[in-house]
Amino acid sequence: MARFDRRAVLLGLGATAIGGASLAGAGAAPAYDDPDTLYAALRNQPGDQLQIGGGTIRLVFADGAQGLARGPVLAWVRTAAMALTAYFGRYPVSDHGLLIIAEPGDRVGHATTFGYAGSATRIHVGMDAGRAAFDRDWVLVHEMVHTALPDLPRRALWLQEGNATYVEPIARALIGQLTPEAVWQAAAAGMAKGIPRAGDAGMDGTRAWGRLYWGGALFWLLAEISIYRDTKGARSLRDALRHINRMSGGNTATWSPEQLMMVGDAAIGATSLGKLYSRFATTAVSTDLVDLFQELGIVTGANGQLMLDNRAPLARLRARITSD
Ligand SMILES: [Zn+2]
Repeated sequence: MARFDRRAVLLGLGATAIGGASLAGAGAAPAYDDPDTLYAALRNQPGDQLQIGGGTIRLVFADGAQGLARGPVLAWVRTAAMALTAYFGRYPVSDHGLLIIAEPGDRVGHATTFGYAGSATRIHVGMDAGRAAFDRDWVLVHEMVHTALPDLPRRALWLQEGNATYVEPIARALIGQLTPEAVWQAAAAGMAKGIPRAGDAGMDGTRAWGRLYWGGALFWLLAEISIYRDTKGARSLRDALRHINRMSGGNTATWSPEQLMMVGDAAIGATSLGKLYSRFATTAVSTDLVDLFQELGIVTGANGQLMLDNRAPLARLRARITSD
């Protein structure tokens, strides 16, 4: 694919910002920070090929990744790829290079995904990470979701981060890794961080962390609801995203957000995405989250426990989102 400008190259799509702070430790090795070195490692170092959902993941343990057990890492990558395959109906890109960088610690660390010279992700993994850390991890699935949609200009970064934030837990629920309750618990807590504050403008160009990730995720949830209403339940956001994925081939393509919405709308035979996007892009849209979650039947019980109410107006949609 074409080589894009340096700004896009250096930007990448990371998972660092979730939680508001970098997950990379101060002592982390600076190796492979330049994406050109990531692509070179994927080309030149020995790797394993995983075939999943019609795609090939080329997995390279950077410089041998001393101290990192191979088996659990391979199982973790395979499971994440199955979640993506469940959501998109196939693995979202035909070839995905994955560079695993060992680091001290017991969990999955910082990751970034690029598309300018092929779909590629570098991800740091703690040498003491065990089965529980891999089962809990959301970072790898988040990065894989980034490969599925075309790259967008910087002003629309919120659509990309929001999409990965929204789709990641749903994809994991589709393979039974998360319960629907866990998906909605995280959404209810997270989306409160994405609401515009006084003085905020439209979403295009926003750099605020909460709005980029959770404001973006809220956009995609509202898109889900608009599509459900506009098509009387006949189509879903998943239909639109699958079509966008097929038409673009994933993040090696660069589109405009307007094109993304147009192609998504073509898949559902409505104008839900285009309309919602133009509102969100240019104006601060305030959403009553209490009302929204009540309509979906996501309620907090007297004991503080989240409960799902199947009599709520949008309960059918809510149940459908996390099931096949
Ligand atoms: Zn991301």
